[in-house]
Amino acid sequence: MFASTAPLPPSPRPIWWQWLRTASGSRLVAAAFVMLLVLQGLLIREGLTHLQSIATDFEFVVKDIGERELRTQQMQMAAQNRIVLLLRMLAQPDPLEREDDARAFETEGLAFGSARDALRATQLDPAGRQSLEAVLNGAVELSQHQRQVVQHLLMGEDHQARADMDTHRVFALQRDLVASLQRFGDSQHALTVQAQQRARHAHDQARSVLWGMGAGIFLLGLVLGVVVTRSISRAELVLARDKARADFAAGHDALTGLLNRRGFDDALSHWRQTSSATAPVHTLMLIDLDKFKPVNDQAGHAAGDAVLKRLADIFRNSTRPQDLVARLGGDEFAIVLHGMPLSAATDVAERVRQTVHDFTFEWQGQHFQLGTSIGIVAFDAAAPQQDWSATMKLADEACYDAKHAGRNRVCSASARTPAHNTQ
Ligand code: GH3
Ligand code: MG
Repeated sequence: MFASTAPLPPSPRPIWWQWLRTASGSRLVAAAFVMLLVLQGLLIREGLTHLQSIATDFEFVVKDIGERELRTQQMQMAAQNRIVLLLRMLAQPDPLEREDDARAFETEGLAFGSARDALRATQLDPAGRQSLEAVLNGAVELSQHQRQVVQHLLMGEDHQARADMDTHRVFALQRDLVASLQRFGDSQHALTVQAQQRARHAHDQARSVLWGMGAGIFLLGLVLGVVVTRSISRAELVLARDKARADFAAGHDALTGLLNRRGFDDALSHWRQTSSATAPVHTLMLIDLDKFKPVNDQAGHAAGDAVLKRLADIFRNSTRPQDLVARLGGDEFAIVLHGMPLSAATDVAERVRQTVHDFTFEWQGQHFQLGTSIGIVAFDAAAPQQDWSATMKLADEACYDAKHAGRNRVCSASARTPAHNTQ
């Protein structure tokens, strides 16, 4: 028996990893925004927590420690009053006055007791509680001595009372009580200082945490801003490029790169609007290739396309930058010679015709001789739209004339007679 050794299936990637790999730019930006919000939330929570801790410490300083200091002072006061009353009773010969002092002595005892109870009820740390209990033990012992003296005095046993007073003992206990109350008060003051330090430390810590998180959020926001701005400008660039491409494609012939009919009409109307004042007279040439179909028929459509491209180059190279050159469709082309009167334009048309005539197209061992029938007409740039249609018609008729006169020639629309005839 052999144990199965089939390979383990690959452990699946975590969901967040898959999400990150497939996330689009906008999803990443949205995720970063969510992160920014979460960080802001954390920052606020952190800030509030620290502020709460600072507030708690201050509350402790103000309320609890203040309460203890107050009660300690009350106890000190009551203890001092009791010793004064006791001394007064010792010196007092009148028994009734003594009784009054004894009542006052008891009242001070009650005040001491209630201050003590309030002090015990505060939230003392173990060391503070231990020190308080030591103070109170001393107070109890002192009180017992004092009480004994008071009883003897009330019974009229002045001598015994003075003996019990054992001034050294009582005053020593009194000194101890005052000193221990003082120590306790000092320890409470030390606690106040500690609480203040803690509050200051918490404040400093909160400040650096908030600064750190604030800086992180600022940086993240900055990065996000840069990323968003860059992607928007990139998208705008792509859009602008696409629009420029679409605009170009809408106005140009895909095969030759020349203007198409729409581009030609647009360019011409724009051109006529802007240039009519400086150059009112221009010349339109309509060109139809002679015997182009046989190229297609004998060498194929690709060869015909190649011919159209080569002739487009010839037309482009025969004109100036300010002229318009267009393929209106099939084997029909148009050239508008900017600011050129008919006589000069006739020479240009003749040069074009001659160049095409001299050109031999070779395709896979076959040779083709081509020709052009060209109709030309001069027109006024300021003429309205309907005159432009008439101009086109005249040029078309002149081209037709050139065809019918035997092809490979230039005909002027003004004369409706061949301007040149090479055959
Ligand atoms: P003509 O001398 O009377 O002008 O005759 P032609 O042989 O030049 O033919 P015509 O002007 O009557 O027709 C133009 C031909 O051009 C028709 C069509 O087959 C061809 N053609 C039109 N567009 C394209 C094109 O984009 N590519 C190719 N290869 N041929 C085209
Ligand atoms: Mg033709």
